[in-house]
Amino acid sequence: MVLELKSKIAIIGAGPAGCTCAYYLQNEFEVTLFDIASPLRTILPTGGGRCNLAYGEYDFRELVKNYPRGEKFLYSVFSRFSTADTISLFDEIGVDTYMQDDFRIFPTSNSSADVRNKFLDALKQVRFIKEKVLRVDRVNYLFKVVTDMASYNFDKIVIATGGHASYNLIKYLGHKIVDPVPALVALKTNEDFSSVAGVALKSVRAEFGSKKSLVGDILFTHKGVSGPLIYKISSLMAKEAFPYNIYIDFVGDIDFQDVLNKNSHKDIKNILAEFIPKSFAEFVLTKLHIAMDLKGHKINAQIRDKILNQLQNYQVQVVAPVKDGEVVTCGGVSLDEINPKTLESKLQQGIYFCGEVLDIDGFCGGFNLQNCWSTGYIAAKGVMQS
Ligand SMILES: Cc1cc2nc3c(=O)[nH]c(=O)nc-3n(C[C@H](O)[C@H](O)[C@H](O)COP(=O)(O)OP(=O)(O)OC[C@H]3O[C@@H](n4cnc5c(N)ncnc54)[C@H](O)[C@@H]3O)c2cc1C
Repeated sequence: MVLELKSKIAIIGAGPAGCTCAYYLQNEFEVTLFDIASPLRTILPTGGGRCNLAYGEYDFRELVKNYPRGEKFLYSVFSRFSTADTISLFDEIGVDTYMQDDFRIFPTSNSSADVRNKFLDALKQVRFIKEKVLRVDRVNYLFKVVTDMASYNFDKIVIATGGHASYNLIKYLGHKIVDPVPALVALKTNEDFSSVAGVALKSVRAEFGSKKSLVGDILFTHKGVSGPLIYKISSLMAKEAFPYNIYIDFVGDIDFQDVLNKNSHKDIKNILAEFIPKSFAEFVLTKLHIAMDLKGHKINAQIRDKILNQLQNYQVQVVAPVKDGEVVTCGGVSLDEINPKTLESKLQQGIYFCGEVLDIDGFCGGFNLQNCWSTGYIAAKGVMQS
């Protein structure tokens, strides 16, 4: 009888990307997943505990447009594994999914913990080692994985260490790291909005950067601004220097003089409350030193224009991202050094990368996890092909 020895593969990082890669490799190889902590714990906070695992865009040419970094690179990746494949993957491991009206896809259980349990159940053939990987050395045709406890030999290595972690071990392999900065993050402002913290405004238009414009929902916080609109701006401006300005139009085109004429005996704070939340109207009036009970007919052209300017062109100066609040890292392993068809390093044959460790990041909506499922799969295929 001839015993065929399976090749040994080490995957460093048991987040969504590493676990996906392990799932597709486990039947053909001897797979070991290293993680400093419990596997797939990083999925628990996703989608506010509900795990927004994908976005309902089934045309990969459109899907790639949601990645400020990595759009071109993902074209080839998503042409082979995108939204429909993600749904099939979850179906296979017993996670039913549904799509919300806003196209975001969640597990029917609405539970990240459920997704994690089912995923881990599906990794029956994988060996988990809870140790920190310090470095990877090439020894002849093998790789030695050195951890804080021991060292182990493998035929191939997949690196899936996520954002903002373990870049030293990657640099040690000769790879370039594009400077990591936070994206999808709330923003600190020079103006103090704490008196209106918690106030949200829907569908406002923001202008920022060089003629960029977006419509979305904003939330004031104790530190500055947040909400879907701000997250998207933080992503598009991730590489820009602070401070920068965002100009917000809260009300759109209105004939404010006509509004004042029709409400000539009303207090200005109540007139404004037709367009913006009352507490924010009071905040704006306080800032402009205008009495809350000033009647519509008492408002002259100068005061009118001062108010209108705040409603249509409110300048928010952003000074920094809110510390430790980022959802995703912009930056990571330079894509120039990775083959998009296999996710193998162009510098180190036998080493592959997947997930957020790559210089890829998407908007909110399930795009970052989609990157993990897709690149995890392609890295597995890359390992199988070579
Ligand atoms: C609060 C929050 C909510 C989010 N919600 C969503 C969402 O709803 N939808 C979405 O698409 N995206 C969401 N994201 C983003 C998404 O979670 C990440 O993009 C995704 O987890 C990245 O997966 P990854 O496998 O590449 O890396 P990670 O999940 O970061 O996993 C990397 C793993 O590697 C391990 N590791 C690192 N270095 C070493 C080492 N040297 N040795 C051993 N182990 C190591 C880490 O312990 C970690 O477990 C959210 C992120 C946050 C923070």
